[in-house]
Amino acid sequence: MSFLPFYIPQRKKLNIVIVGGGYAGITALTTFVRYMPDANITIIDPRSHHIKITHLHESFRYPLQDFMVPFSSLEERFSCRHICAELHATEDNIQQWSDDKFIAINEEEIEFDYVLIASGAASGRTSQEKNVHDINTFLTISGSELINRSLETIDQEKPYISVVGGGATGIQFLFEIAHFIKRKKMKCNLRLIHSNDRVLQQFPAGFSEYTEARMSDLGIDFQQNTYYQKQTENSIFLKSKETKEEFELPSKMTLLFLGNNPGKRLSANTFGQVIINSQPIRNIFVAGDCSDYNSCGSNTMSAQSSVRKGRLAACNILRDSSILKIFEPYLHQDLGYVISLGPKDAVGWLAVEDNVVGGTPALLLKELVESQYDLLLAKGINTYLM
Ligand SMILES: Cc1cc2nc3c(=O)[nH]c(=O)nc-3n(C[C@H](O)[C@H](O)[C@H](O)COP(=O)(O)OP(=O)(O)OC[C@H]3O[C@@H](n4cnc5c(N)ncnc54)[C@H](O)[C@@H]3O)c2cc1C
Repeated sequence: MSFLPFYIPQRKKLNIVIVGGGYAGITALTTFVRYMPDANITIIDPRSHHIKITHLHESFRYPLQDFMVPFSSLEERFSCRHICAELHATEDNIQQWSDDKFIAINEEEIEFDYVLIASGAASGRTSQEKNVHDINTFLTISGSELINRSLETIDQEKPYISVVGGGATGIQFLFEIAHFIKRKKMKCNLRLIHSNDRVLQQFPAGFSEYTEARMSDLGIDFQQNTYYQKQTENSIFLKSKETKEEFELPSKMTLLFLGNNPGKRLSANTFGQVIINSQPIRNIFVAGDCSDYNSCGSNTMSAQSSVRKGRLAACNILRDSSILKIFEPYLHQDLGYVISLGPKDAVGWLAVEDNVVGGTPALLLKELVESQYDLLLAKGINTYLM
């Protein structure tokens, strides 16, 4: 068994419930397996597969199956149990679980010593409209299939596809679509609609300059300072941010990437324990995009923060169960962030935010980070240094 500082295991075999098997949940799982291999671990997640969601935009190049790992495989690999169900981690429910020391689900009572909530971010607007898709569509159909199917039924000569949202996710999808259309020699126009005057505005200006130059190279129309209203059979309806004027442009399909809703996160102390009514709940922890740690560590909604929080929360759960009860605070600072711009290009920062890198170095960095997570998932080996 591996050594974890300040953790002196007692004899008791812990019952641990992980709510949500995404990046934070799976990292926590591998951490428990490493330091307490005989713990009873239950993962509750409504999906049948763990999704490597940071690769989702690549489904224009690779089969969707490449990014999905069945929970049944993880059950075998890490000797845990998966329950396919949704749990609502509201403050009332959390308080109830903590008092009861069990979670009632699917007519079963799951007793626990600790719960880790890692159910990800609540997505912003979701769409039910015809010809409008959001990130949820890409969980069920690959990007290539979606575009092929949609364009098959269109009789216009050069139809428009509109992408709404110039944040990290929207941009990654936009470039994959542009390269897919080019590769397949499809007669189709691409447009980005963004509510700001520059894309990726949460990053340094170098990100926007690099990305907008590449958009221009690929012939992508950029409708800046514009809000999306609706998509109909042949048109997209938009509104100018500055003049409030409403207008209509030709469009056959809209893809919405409006970001997550950071407002609904659970507060936690610097050790990852959920805080309700200003009090930490001793045996209920939270990690990943659904958490907001009261600490100087990074609270960005990113895979790298989620992985760090997942590991930290798991280590502190183990320490709480041990004799010493000395916890580790959350201090992780992001070391970089890379956004892919299609198969052969990327833009990102490394070490300090102003150090913007583009092209091959950024692409290599992204591949390195992705392979670290692949190793964790396949073998439970944690190669994250900080
Ligand atoms: C296309 C795309 C590309 C991205 N690229 C990057 C990148 O390059 N780098 C980066 O750092 N970040 C990236 N991100 C962000 C990153 O994916 C997220 O920050 C990260 O996945 C958050 O991890 P998490 O464990 O908190 O949530 P998730 O990975 O979203 O996992 C949440 C899990 O909880 C489950 N769940 C949801 N609700 C419930 C419920 N009620 N009960 C039980 N289970 C529930 C879900 O089914 C899911 O399995 C990207 C995101 C997208 C969409």
